[in-house]
Amino acid sequence: MEAAAAGKAKVVVVGGGLAGSLLAKTIQGDADVFVVDPKEYLEIPWAELRSTVEPSFAERSLIYHRDYLTQGTLVTSSAINITENAVLTADGQSLGYDYLVIATGHAVTSPGSRAERLKEFQRDNGKIESSESVLIVGGGPTGVELAGEIAVDYPEKKVTLIHRGPRLLEFIGEKASKKCLDWLTSKKVDVLLQNSVDLGSLSDAEKSYKTSGGETVMADSHFVCIGKPLSSSWLHGTILKESLDNKGRVMVEKDLRVKGYNNIFAIGDITDIPEIKQGYLAQKHALLVAKNLKLLIKGSPVSKLATYSTGYPIAMVSLGRNEGIAQLPYVTLSGCLPGRIKSRDLYVGKARKQLGLNA
Ligand SMILES: Cc1cc2nc3c(=O)[nH]c(=O)nc-3n(C[C@H](O)[C@H](O)[C@H](O)COP(=O)(O)OP(=O)(O)OC[C@H]3O[C@@H](n4cnc5c(N)ncnc54)[C@H](O)[C@@H]3O)c2cc1C
Repeated sequence: MEAAAAGKAKVVVVGGGLAGSLLAKTIQGDADVFVVDPKEYLEIPWAELRSTVEPSFAERSLIYHRDYLTQGTLVTSSAINITENAVLTADGQSLGYDYLVIATGHAVTSPGSRAERLKEFQRDNGKIESSESVLIVGGGPTGVELAGEIAVDYPEKKVTLIHRGPRLLEFIGEKASKKCLDWLTSKKVDVLLQNSVDLGSLSDAEKSYKTSGGETVMADSHFVCIGKPLSSSWLHGTILKESLDNKGRVMVEKDLRVKGYNNIFAIGDITDIPEIKQGYLAQKHALLVAKNLKLLIKGSPVSKLATYSTGYPIAMVSLGRNEGIAQLPYVTLSGCLPGRIKSRDLYVGKARKQLGLNA
């Protein structure tokens, strides 16, 4: 590209989640890198639930972007538009690019300031501490892992988990769902399946919640743990609007270029790659695109780019501090072995090391 020949190529990475941060860290010595994210920090998503029962855990799992982006530039704002050669941000900046990477994963619901996010964990922990009973709405990974953390750290508290679907953890296999249900039941968590509560009418002051199945759940506090939507609605008004599928996912080629573009890539949960949406795969995308960007910057043709292949859908769900469930090729395990792999440190040390930081 002309700009690349004139000096360092300019790479704009939109979204500093697990995928965007690793890509930016890996490519920052080879290009002029800009990371656009409304938060000043990367949050390791699955550490949220441990941080809710142990707020100090978040000190390691909320990582300032500036700590790994030592040679790049952080733009603390949301991207709102993309043209053929620039990304426009909510705070009015126009960032020219030679190469662009879309890594916006899921919608942003957390505050931009790391200090504010730490305070949120303190507040949520206070809510649990002062409750004798807790209602958790949503039986996906967030609801299940929160139920597990509370059941283990606060065994005296009554926990009810309500889930609209027919089984917990619907994103993985039925064996894993069953093992999870058995574990929660053994910890005296009440699991109500195929049931819902009207989220609009939820208030901690009420303490009594009517379910769609006609039951009444008494709880001193509640947590809503329904999955966050993808952060792709902002792409509808951009040059990439034709590159979205009907679920709002960005359609990519095997080399992770966005369909129809030679200099725009997409990585992580926002892509339409037909695989389970997991952070370790988002990080694989990041490393592959870092490699491809280095090739393009050196002048390699698009035909020489590395391609991505999907693997077996491995998943780990932690159940408190020592146990967990692992869906592996050919076998689904529960108990202390998967617990040893994920639940103790929740891979926080590993993720930090990948970004060149102390574990
Ligand atoms: C409870 C739970 C447990 C999990 N456990 C595991 C596990 O054990 N192993 C595993 O591999 N995966 C796990 N996952 C899945 C994993 O968290 C996701 O697959 C991963 O976070 C996807 O990374 P990402 O970078 O694509 O997106 P995200 O992590 O969602 O990051 C997106 C980033 O984009 C930013 N952003 C959004 N919109 C904009 C915008 N318009 N402009 C600029 N920035 C924007 C956001 O602020 C955010 O920083 C778990 C998820 C949950 C919820």
